[in-house]
Amino acid sequence: MAEECIFCNIVNGKTDTQFLYRDDRVVAFADIHPHAPVHDLIVPFQHIRSVNDLQSLDQELMAHMVMTGRELARQRGVDQSGYKLLFNVEWGGGQRIFHIHMHLLGGWDKEK
Ligand SMILES: [Zn+2]
Repeated sequence: MAEECIFCNIVNGKTDTQFLYRDDRVVAFADIHPHAPVHDLIVPFQHIRSVNDLQSLDQELMAHMVMTGRELARQRGVDQSGYKLLFNVEWGGGQRIFHIHMHLLGGWDKEK
């Protein structure tokens, strides 16, 4: 199943996706269907289906994703105007790719 996962393919460099950030645990790239002026995704290498599937061992990874989102917000210039970091969980929660990822949304009021 993981072999057919689009996010596994992306994080493993099997697509031409441009990474905004990359380290040994996560990558970040722009959402191809943006819902905000800045809409990026922070995706771990580890294939975890959703927040529902997190285990105690994953706590550090989740904290790392949040800290990466914060840093990316700064890089994208939306840290002062404000932004959202959010997880959609399962279909009813708006999740469409079942490889855990966090959305960074912002940039609505950058000019103020
Ligand atoms: Zn995956």
